[in-house]
Amino acid sequence: MRTPWTATVLTILPNVFPGPLGASLIGSALENGTWALHTIDTREFAEDKHRSVDDTPAGGGPGMVMRPDVVGRAVDAATAKSPDAPVVFLSPRGKPLDQARVRELAQGPGVTALCGRFEGLDERVIAARNIEEISIGDYVLAGGEVAACVLIEACVRLLPGVIGDAASLEQESFEQGLLEYPHYTRPRTWEGLEIPEVLLSGDHGKIAEWRRAQAEAITKERRPDLWSRRKK
Ligand code: SAH
Repeated sequence: MRTPWTATVLTILPNVFPGPLGASLIGSALENGTWALHTIDTREFAEDKHRSVDDTPAGGGPGMVMRPDVVGRAVDAATAKSPDAPVVFLSPRGKPLDQARVRELAQGPGVTALCGRFEGLDERVIAARNIEEISIGDYVLAGGEVAACVLIEACVRLLPGVIGDAASLEQESFEQGLLEYPHYTRPRTWEGLEIPEVLLSGDHGKIAEWRRAQAEAITKERRPDLWSRRKK
């Protein structure tokens, strides 16, 4: 059998995983071998008796910095196992993650995700191992583990067979450079609020037109940045 899409996570908290990645459709896909998850405990690569992975920042300042020697060995161990998977450092300084990058990663062999803790990671290891930095948003987390889950979950749901209805993927937010149109379901009247008439009309052309117009209006209002970059 060919190797499934593989996520390797480098972390000092391996027992965080699979966490949410073990649930629902993503979790079943993990169980049935559509994708594989490996964790590597970065601390295993420390060589002193305290197994330290961090040290004080050169030049002073608050917090601790992850050591390049320890992290470098952990990255090399991951790369030896998955030589073709890009190595990503989850970092607020990274390029913001978007659906286009998720799609590319999902089409590749997998991803090796390096989770930071403390103040950050020694810059030399990022450069020496050609590590891509990815951010999941403009806010600061306590560590890269949750960000790695976000990245991996976004990729895995695009793998063939993970989400039963492929059409549901095409319609989604960002796929056409737009946010998604609003959804409704039964009951037809809820707290005096009706489902928009057009959705009950059975006219698929009109429904598609209405959804498109809604998606455009919502995108324009909420995300002018996406609206100005949309594919026309
Ligand atoms: N001092 C750093 C923040 C460190 S937070 C700075 O100001 O940039 C500790 C770790 O959490 C980071 O190394 C990173 O792995 C992770 N992290 C925090 N916020 C993140 C975000 N928005 N996206 C991805 N990873 C993040």
